[in-house]
Amino acid sequence: MNEPKGKVCHYTEVDAEIFGDEAPGVTIRWVIDEERDGAPTYALRVIEVASGGHTPDHTHPFEHENFIIEGKGRVQIDGKWFEVGVGDVVFVPAGSQHTYVNAGDKPFKFLCGIPVSKLRPKN
Ligand SMILES: [Zn+2]
Repeated sequence: MNEPKGKVCHYTEVDAEIFGDEAPGVTIRWVIDEERDGAPTYALRVIEVASGGHTPDHTHPFEHENFIIEGKGRVQIDGKWFEVGVGDVVFVPAGSQHTYVNAGDKPFKFLCGIPVSKLRPKN
């Protein structure tokens, strides 16, 4: 892990990783993380869901903190669906079942904050 150092960059300077078959059309950029930036507590990701794409319906023992930056989506939290758009904030509590779906014809982009890996409960 690197010593924490201030950084400023455009999010597109960070590589977009492809999620894979379980999340068609989804990429993730770890714009602030522990390995590259030495962030000790929080990781910030930019997630992009292409039109027609979605994340898996999944659960894990840590929260998501989201801010929608582009597009339109539908978010499911424990079976309840919400329509979301630019400027909306989403909190997915630890242990909740959740999924994100692009509900428009343009990319659906949102910030997703989580604890760094050493602080994420494993179960
Ligand atoms: Zn999740």
